[in-house]
Amino acid sequence: MVNFSFNDEQQELRANLQAFISEHVTDTVRNELADAHAGNGKGPHLRALHEDIFRRGWMAVSWPKEYGGQSGETITQFIVEEEFLRGCDMRMGAGGTGGPAILASGTEEQKKKYVPGAARLDITFCQGYSEPHCGTDLAGIRCRATRDDDKYVINGQKIYTTNAQNATHIFLLARTDPESTRQAGLSVLLVPMNTAGITVRPLWTIQHEPQAPSNTTYGETRTNEVFFDNVEVPVSCLLGKEGDGWNVTKRGLNLDRVGAWRYLMSVRRTEDIVNLLKSDNEAVVGLRDDPAVRDTIADLWIEAQMCRLMTMRSLSIAGRRGEFVHEGSGEKVVGPEHGVRATEAISQILGPYGALLSSSLEAIESGVYAHNLLGAFQSTVNHGSVQVMRDQIARKGLGMPKPAGSPKARSSTLTTS
Ligand SMILES: Cc1cc2nc3c(=O)[nH]c(=O)nc-3n(C[C@H](O)[C@H](O)[C@H](O)COP(=O)(O)OP(=O)(O)OC[C@H]3O[C@@H](n4cnc5c(N)ncnc54)[C@H](O)[C@@H]3O)c2cc1C
Repeated sequence: MVNFSFNDEQQELRANLQAFISEHVTDTVRNELADAHAGNGKGPHLRALHEDIFRRGWMAVSWPKEYGGQSGETITQFIVEEEFLRGCDMRMGAGGTGGPAILASGTEEQKKKYVPGAARLDITFCQGYSEPHCGTDLAGIRCRATRDDDKYVINGQKIYTTNAQNATHIFLLARTDPESTRQAGLSVLLVPMNTAGITVRPLWTIQHEPQAPSNTTYGETRTNEVFFDNVEVPVSCLLGKEGDGWNVTKRGLNLDRVGAWRYLMSVRRTEDIVNLLKSDNEAVVGLRDDPAVRDTIADLWIEAQMCRLMTMRSLSIAGRRGEFVHEGSGEKVVGPEHGVRATEAISQILGPYGALLSSSLEAIESGVYAHNLLGAFQSTVNHGSVQVMRDQIARKGLGMPKPAGSPKARSSTLTTS
């Protein structure tokens, strides 16, 4: 029999996390968090909080102890992630940190150099894959890393590099074999962002003006362009084998994306509207008694549970070091599309209030619902678009052949499983 409930110890952990967050994640910490995100470094309160969380064993829970983790279970990590995301919008698990990718493909020296720092969030990575002419079709990458004795010299441009303004390092997918085409001849380099010759330029998003309130889930106000102009790094920055960057990236992306973050990003929209309708907010008076509203909420809730269960399946695969086939792709379709449906439904339920952004004095909760509506769609594109994910499910999950005459791009997308 499958048991979907959490045991007493896990419930106790949840309660401890909730108490900790309400006591320690103060307004000062939240302000410092926003500051750090803007690229201004960690303030003293945020630094102390991270230390405290680390000491309590809530960072890098499932990573090996010898590399700064806790050697704990993935389900424990999932609970920690869920509570920090729900309680204070902090991404406190291991996903998105780069650690799992380095553990999977790095040398012993690299694991010791980067993983303990990543576990404490002192080392943070941004992802340098997309370029102006290639996002889905990543095999068309032109950024070059030319070997010159014991170093690589990098020239080229990346685009949509989220968090480049505050990351200490970039996972850079570059062409190391100048004669190569498509997937062959690509390599991954771990490049410190403070290396001479790197320029980061902001690309402001739709959430920049008026600025999305800080609790907007899809509220990223900027992503970036990153330029490499004769950037020199030692060959020890190479992750995995030279020329094997395609596989290194694929493996890393699969591992890095497992966790509560993706599903909660979408599902929290449904939780938002439920909480709002239960509240005494004047703008929603009477709405909770409307049968059509109640039906919509119930449908969203069923879908939300499906998203959560799919995430837990991926966690279970990762926990037993199993092989991903199509599971990540399924999650990546269902979660973001749920988020879009939920934000649209919220907008309809709230009527005119649902359209008011942060600049409006009449906006409910500083316009967070309207800003989430603006931002939800992008989650169906980044990290591999839902169209491409469906293609992967058809081919890898259901064993369907490639459509006759399909473009090369179909076999050259780098996405989760
Ligand atoms: C907010 C945001 C943050 C991002 N952050 C990062 C980041 O940190 N690092 C990074 O490297 N990249 C990042 N990206 C880039 C993202 O991964 C790409 O936008 C994405 O891969 C799509 O590539 P593209 O924009 O070039 O669109 P295209 O590849 O041109 O795709 C356009 C449309 O065509 C469809 N399409 C393309 N090829 C196929 C196909 N073979 N089969 C079916 N449909 C197809 C796509 O589904 C999409 O709907 C981010 C993007 C966004 C929006």
